[in-house]
Amino acid sequence: MKVLLVEDDVSIAQSVIASLTTAGLEVTHVDSGQGAIDAVATVNPDVILMDLGLPDMDGLDASKVIRESSSVPIIIVSARGDELDRVLGLELGADDYVVKPFSQRELLARIRAVTRRGVEPTPVTPVTYGTTRLIIDERAHSVVLDNEEIVLTAKEFDLLAFLAAEPNVVFRRNDILEHVWDTNWFGTTKTLDAHIASIRKKLGSPDWIQAVRGVGFKFVEVVA
Ligand code: CA
Repeated sequence: MKVLLVEDDVSIAQSVIASLTTAGLEVTHVDSGQGAIDAVATVNPDVILMDLGLPDMDGLDASKVIRESSSVPIIIVSARGDELDRVLGLELGADDYVVKPFSQRELLARIRAVTRRGVEPTPVTPVTYGTTRLIIDERAHSVVLDNEEIVLTAKEFDLLAFLAAEPNVVFRRNDILEHVWDTNWFGTTKTLDAHIASIRKKLGSPDWIQAVRGVGFKFVEVVA
C-alpha cells in the first residue's frame, strides 16, 4: 500500500515515515500542496495524509484540486482544534481527519479504515469441479448439494476439495494425508477413513468418494 505524506514539518514527517514504513507501507513524502497535486499523478497513492498548514497553499485547497481528478482517500492532518472546525465545516471530500499530536497506532487505524472503504468487493465465483449437483466454493468454504448447504468440518472440507479438484483420479492414502493433514504418519490412516465415512454420510451416498482397494480414494460425480 502506497501512502502519500504531505507534511512540511521535517520532524513530524520523519516519525510518520518511520512508523508507516515499519508497518509495511510504502511512503512518498512531499512538503507542499503543489508537490502533493503533482505526486498524485506520478505516485498513484492508495491514501493521502494531508497537512493543513503548508508553505504554498492550504491543505484543504490542495485536497479540493486532487479531488477533481482522483477518488483517492484523503486523511486531513490538523494541528489545532480550531482548524478542525474548518475541516468539518467544509465539504471537500476528505475521508477522515486526525489532530496533532496523534499516536502512530491511531494513524495506522485511520489509514486502514479509509483504504478498506475504498476497496471494491471481489466477486466470488464458485468452483464447481465439473459436477452439476455439488458446488464446492473454496473461497466461501462452503459445500452445496442440490441447492442445500452441507455442513462439513474444516478437515472434511479440505479432504473433499482435494479429491474433487480432480474427479475420477485415484489418490494414494499417503498423498492425501500429506496434502490434507500435512503428514504421512501411518497411524493417521484411521483418521482418513473416519473423515471419508463422515463426508459420505453427509453427502447422502457412499458413491461420491470411492475406495480403490490397495491404492486410495477417488471422487466420482453421483448422478441423481
Ligand atoms: Ca505544516
